[in-house]
Amino acid sequence: MKFPGIGTRQAKRFVYFLLAQDTRFVETFAHELSELKKNIGQCASCFRYYERRGTQTQCDACTSDADSSILLVVEKDTDMDTVRRSGSYAGRYFVLGGTIPVLENDPASKIRIRELVARIGQGTSEGLTEVVLALSANKNALKNRG
Ligand SMILES: [Zn+2]
Repeated sequence: MKFPGIGTRQAKRFVYFLLAQDTRFVETFAHELSELKKNIGQCASCFRYYERRGTQTQCDACTSDADSSILLVVEKDTDMDTVRRSGSYAGRYFVLGGTIPVLENDPASKIRIRELVARIGQGTSEGLTEVVLALSANKNALKNRG
């Protein structure tokens, strides 16, 4: 029930599914789950999760020869995956970690604003000239503003 969007009924369904599987499946699943944090890192440049290889600290999107003059800011890892799969963008990325929480007292504590400012600062020395915000409009934040 601690997974996002999973209620009591869905959680029970997962448990019953696991109980119906053979021991080998459940042991393999538990092992892969425990390996997740070891094998998946967060990119030091764009902050997406990626499969770590050796001592590298950046994902393949950040180490590729992508156009470093343009930076696309997205909300989540899945948004970045969607844009990458489309093949319509050839620049660099930054995963903000959420939409801009305009009603929060300290928005920077909810998303990676400081990291984005640092990334833009670093990028300008590498030829960055354009930042594109590819974020969804948050109607609820505006509606609740009063
Ligand atoms: Zn990256």
